[in-house]
Order: sequence, then structure tokens, then C-alpha cells
Amino acid sequence: MITDVPNETGPEPLAVLIVGAGFSGLAMAIRCKQAGIAPLRVIEKADSLGGTWHDNTYPGAACDVPSHLYSLSFAPKADWSRMYAPQPEILAYLRETAERHGLMPLIRLGTSFQGATWDEAGGVWRVATDRGPITARSIVSGMGGLHHPAYPDLPGRDSFAGPAFHTATWDHAVDLTGKRIGVIGTGASAIQVVPELAKVAGHLTLFQRTPPWIMPKNDHAIAERAKTRYRRLPLIRRLERARLFWLHEVRALLGFTKVSKLTGQAEALARRHLAKAVPDKALRAKLTPNYRLGCKRVLISDDYYPALQRPNVTLETGGVARVTPTGLVTQDGQAHDLDVIVYATGFDVTATFTRMTLVGRSGLTLKQAWSGGMGAYQGITVAGFPNYFMLLGPNTGLGHNSVVAMIEVQVQHVLDCLKALRRGTRVIEVRPEAQARFLDRIRTRLADSIWQAGGCRSWYLDAEGRNATLWPDSVMAYRRSARRARMADYRLG
Ligand code: NAP
Repeated sequence: MITDVPNETGPEPLAVLIVGAGFSGLAMAIRCKQAGIAPLRVIEKADSLGGTWHDNTYPGAACDVPSHLYSLSFAPKADWSRMYAPQPEILAYLRETAERHGLMPLIRLGTSFQGATWDEAGGVWRVATDRGPITARSIVSGMGGLHHPAYPDLPGRDSFAGPAFHTATWDHAVDLTGKRIGVIGTGASAIQVVPELAKVAGHLTLFQRTPPWIMPKNDHAIAERAKTRYRRLPLIRRLERARLFWLHEVRALLGFTKVSKLTGQAEALARRHLAKAVPDKALRAKLTPNYRLGCKRVLISDDYYPALQRPNVTLETGGVARVTPTGLVTQDGQAHDLDVIVYATGFDVTATFTRMTLVGRSGLTLKQAWSGGMGAYQGITVAGFPNYFMLLGPNTGLGHNSVVAMIEVQVQHVLDCLKALRRGTRVIEVRPEAQARFLDRIRTRLADSIWQAGGCRSWYLDAEGRNATLWPDSVMAYRRSARRARMADYRLG
């Protein structure tokens, strides 16, 4: 059992502690290793690496961004099986990538980050984990925001007698064949799991609160010929990646972050997709959103609408009132008897940061720093928290393109800072005025964004209606803003 990581590497504190072995933590670790930054450790709370792709093993789990784009530019894979890779293939990719880059000896699995305190005199972070303390000169958080399952606050939730689980904590021991399954939620996870469950369920009842906007996915296997070409001619693969990048990027450039003429055109496209897939008028009416496309994440699927028309599937829109030992009761008083309940109800995005205790300079906690809402300079650094960096921090999520592209920008930015620390600087901390300027810029852009003005309520917004999750512009704009760490915006000491 690992109790004290620095003891393994000698009396010196770690140069960097990376928290999380998902896409972002692994990307950071590879680039640190390539830059010769050592000693370096990655801690991961799960018993295996992969982050989101380790946790989400529900039937049908797959990426909704094309695989050649949803992968690291410096760890290419020529032989993706499908346009949109399934979860096991993405997980295998992350494992292979970690192994190929020699990361395995640096990763401590089953080690949970509990918090950290900045030691001013020592110029180090004193980190608490469930396996003992760690001392590190800097911390890079690769914890992401989508890993604390959110459950609806329904009366009687614990009273259900049968199996009940969340899409992110799937219970594979439960045989679903022939069962009466209730699924709550109609987000990105639900639209992937529902078609698979419908194939095996005796009856599936889907409890919808808000219908999502859905576009065709056009998923398909990638031909062997194409895989060989990508392997033999890396330039062709790079061109394909660039084509996919710009295809997605153009959505932001065309104004997908704001309500515009194009919003109406995209809505017409999605309505045509719905009309073609669902001839029944009454069902179609239930599935037609009453808010602007883009306000919530735009989903893509070819099999969700067909699944809802199977004879063993019912769509309930009455709203869930409570849970009973035998099933769910909707607002209209109707009881739905069930054998299994599946919560496809998303994640608590603020929990990542509110559940840990991060104590920065002069006893300032991250909770105090964020009492008026989460926010970070470039989504990466927070004034008062020296040598602490976040990957996929506030306002760096995306609705229109691959989040891996954002991770790569952040990794470069953090690397610049870590290199400055290696050159003899002890402390690097963002200047409060630089952070305030950045957050002002973001807030101005967000004020009339589609997430604010689109007539919906989504997990992008916090309890006060502020959007601290999404980057309100293109990936290229973020690249320009964040790729290089501008040392003038930092205080070096
Ligand atoms: P989500 O988008 O937050 O969806 C949660 C769903 O649960 C919503 O439909 C919500 O309804 C519903 N819900 C919550 N409480 C409810 C209640 N009391 N009664 C009825 N319905 C309730 O969560 P998710 O689908 O897990 O997706 C979260 C994020 O994960 C996505 O936006 C995406 O970024 C990521 N993801 C990505 C992929 C991928 O393919 N790359 C796949 C899955 C997830 P309302 O809409 O009314 O709130």
C-alpha cells in the first residue's frame, strides 16, 4: 500500500502531483514526462485509469464526438473502429497510450485526493489523500466535472425494493432481460442507454422532463481500407482530424453560442429528423423541445427515436412525483410498477470542488474564493492558490467541438508555468487583476449567450443562473487566449 509518495522518490517533494488519470491527467503526465519534469506522480481514486471512460460503462456508452477528433494529437490512433468509438475502445486507447508513454509506474490507483494546504514557508502543497500525505511543489487537477452522479431529490428514493443505479455507476450484476425498467432522464447518457435497454427489457418506461434537440448521428464502421491508409499515410489521418475539427469549429464561428438566424435553420433540420423518424403526431409533440436549439447540449442519435416507438417502450411526460417500494408515481397520481430504476440524471458539476478542502495563501479556501461563483484565469489558475492548476476548470467545457482540444491548450499553458518553476522560480500565481479582466471578458460574452437566452434550464448554469461551465467562443479563440502562459499575468516569486 502506498502511504507516502515522496518517500518513494527520496526526501524531495514531488515537482508535480497530477490528480486524476483520465484524458486530461494522462495528457498532462505525458507532456511533463517528455519535458523532463520530475519527480512526478499521478493519483487516481478509481482502481483503474480512464476517468469518465472508466466510470461510464452503461450499455451503449460511446463518444458523441468523432474518434479521430476525440483523441490526443500527440497520441494518434489510426485504426478507430467506428466514426464514434464505443466506450471500451476509448478506455483501451487511454490504457495503451499510458503504457506506450511509460506512465504506469507513475500512477497510484485507488488513491483519493482529499484536499491540500499551501505551505507558505516551504513553498509546497501539503496534500491529504486517503492513503497518506504527499508533498508537492505544484498540483495539476485533472479531475474533470462529470464524475459525481446527481440523483433527483425525490421523496422515497431509498424505499425502492429492486435494483436502482445511475448510468455512471452501472450495476452489471443485474440481469435486465425481460425486466420492467424505468429510466429517468433524457440527456446525452439516456439517449445512448435507452435503445440498448429497449432491446432486452420486458417493458421500458422513459420518464422525460424536457425533450432534447436531436440531430442525426450518421455513425458507421470505418472501412479497413481507410484504417490502412491512416496507418501508412499519417498525413491523411491528420487531414481527416483537421477536417473534423473545422466541421465542428464552424458551428461556433457561425454563431452557435448565440441565438441567431442559424439557430432557426438548425432547429428546422432537427425537426425534419424528428418528423422523418416519428410519424405519430402525439408522440412527436411530446418529443418536440420548447426552447432554442443549443441551450442544452445538442444530442446526436440514429437509434433513440426508433427505440421510443418499440411496442415495449412508453414515454412518460407527467413528471416523477415520488419513488415507492414497487416503482415510481407520476404527478398525475399514476403508479408505474418497475423491477429496476436507472437514473440517467447527470452529474453534480460543482461537487468536484466543493467536496475537497483546498487552502491557499493566508488560509483562503477555494470555497471562500468562489463564494460568488466559480471562476479561474483562462479556466486554469486562481489568485491566492499558487502553483495550483486546473484542467477542464471553470468555463472551459464545450458544446460544439472536442473537449480534448481544450485539454491540449490547457496542458501547454500549465507546461509553460511548470517550466518557469523549473527555472528557479519558487512560486507562480495569477495576478488578481489579470483574473478579474479575464472573467469580465467571459461574463460579457456569456450575457447574451444561447445558454442564458435560449429559454431552458441546464446543468451548464449554477443555482444562481450563472454559467461557470462553458467556454463561450471557438476553440481557436481559446487557443489564442490560453495556449501560452503570459508571464505578465502571473506573479513569480
Ligand atoms: P444531463 O445532460 O445532465 O441529463 C440529465 C437528465 O436527467 C436530463 O434530461 C434531466 O432533465 C433529467 N432529470 C434530472 N432530474 C430529473 C427529475 N427529477 N425528473 C426527471 N428528469 C430529471 O446528464 P447526462 O445525460 O449524463 O450528460 C451529462 C454530460 O455528460 C453531457 O452533457 C455531456 O457533456 C457528457 N456526456 C457525453 C457523452 C458523449 O457521448 N461524449 C455521453 C454522455 C454524457 P432536464 O433536462 O429537464 O433537466
